[in-house]
Amino acid sequence: MSKYETLDKFGVENLEEADFKKRQDYILKNCRCTKCPTYVQGDAPTGYCYPAFGTSKQIHWEKECVCKTCSIFKEYELTHSFYCTRCSQFCQGLKIEVAGGQGGSG
Ligand code: SF4
Ligand code: SF4
Repeated sequence: MSKYETLDKFGVENLEEADFKKRQDYILKNCRCTKCPTYVQGDAPTGYCYPAFGTSKQIHWEKECVCKTCSIFKEYELTHSFYCTRCSQFCQGLKIEVAGGQGGSG
């Protein structure tokens, strides 16, 4: 498995557009962000971990992240937090890869 595939926790790389949207709806339905102390009322769409929504335009202060209590977090074996301010699972994973990848084995 390539590094790219490892980072693609939601497996969106090979999804057709309709399936990508279907998964997106599923994430939104189960997302717990609106119950989180960091969440700013009215901000939408949530589901910030999914690589479709981007970071929040309204959330600027990180208080606490309840992602670890979310069924999506467990189901897709996510590993990061504060997706609303720091970017999606894929994006945060990529940043770590890039930061840690200097002078790799090639
Ligand atoms: S892991 Fe976090 S951002 Fe993703 S759906 Fe759950 S609560 Fe929302
Ligand atoms: S991504 Fe985490 S910190 Fe941000 S609103 Fe959702 S649960 Fe809260």
